Amino acid sequence: MERLNIPPSNHIKVLGGQGWVGLIDHLGTESTIVNAARVSFGKIRSTMEERDVALLNYLIANRHTSPLEHVVFTFSVHCPLFVRGQWHRHRTWSYNEISRRYTEIDLEFYTPEKLRRQSENNRQASFADPDFEDTELRKLIDESNRTSLALYEKLLAGGVCREQARGVLPQNMMTTFWATVDLSNLLHFLQLRDSEHAQFEIREYAVAMRELIRPVVPHVVEYFEQHMLGR
Ligand SMILES: Cc1cc2nc3c(=O)[nH]c(=O)nc-3n(C[C@H](O)[C@H](O)[C@H](O)COP(=O)(O)OP(=O)(O)OC[C@H]3O[C@@H](n4cnc5c(N)ncnc54)[C@H](O)[C@@H]3O)c2cc1C
Repeated sequence: MERLNIPPSNHIKVLGGQGWVGLIDHLGTESTIVNAARVSFGKIRSTMEERDVALLNYLIANRHTSPLEHVVFTFSVHCPLFVRGQWHRHRTWSYNEISRRYTEIDLEFYTPEKLRRQSENNRQASFADPDFEDTELRKLIDESNRTSLALYEKLLAGGVCREQARGVLPQNMMTTFWATVDLSNLLHFLQLRDSEHAQFEIREYAVAMRELIRPVVPHVVEYFEQHMLGR
């Protein structure tokens, strides 16, 4: 049996190599979308023609999204708990996550490669300041991660159960989960999370997932970038 926290073969590293997202499986192709859109005519085709590609463009430009729901992706995600918290607000996905009630092995912690400053005009935003001298502050984060882990291990050694001991582990702890979603809701996620309003860390995952699905649905990604991301 393989460890869950080892990335699958088809994955992209994010957060300076501390996190990753991998494509585990998918169902359907662009041909599936076109056939679903044309199901009302009672005909299906297995090859893509030029007018099928034009139909994909039309569907995305006009938010005619239900045919996209017939294509499904499963990802494996390795991310800090605070990214997991934002991700799991997306209720249209299905999730299964490693449980710290079952296992205390493979604990890892995220230490940001670069610290950002608090935005002055947006209470939930931050900005990169090239003059921010953050080396000592990053060391403090690393030390805090280690201290939390030491306390967690001390509690376990003292006989405390895992489900209570985990309460001392910080938001920077890495977690791993599987996430399955249809293409329509995935594009919705990618639009919200690959945005200047989203936190930098989750944005890295959104950008990586767009690249992971590109070989499967290349025209969809192209028209998504054009119509939904405006790029
Ligand atoms: C930049 C940013 C900042 C955010 N800040 C905050 C914050 O400060 N506090 C906070 O609590 N959250 C915050 N969120 C989370 C946000 O409110 C949403 O919960 C999250 O983005 C999931 O979006 P969603 O509901 O559209 O996605 P999903 O849950 O995947 O739903 C997709 C779509 O399905 C439909 N749907 C799903 N469930 C229901 C339902 N129960 N009833 C009706 N329609 C439904 C809706 O049309 C929805 O858009 C933030 C999100 C972003 C992107």
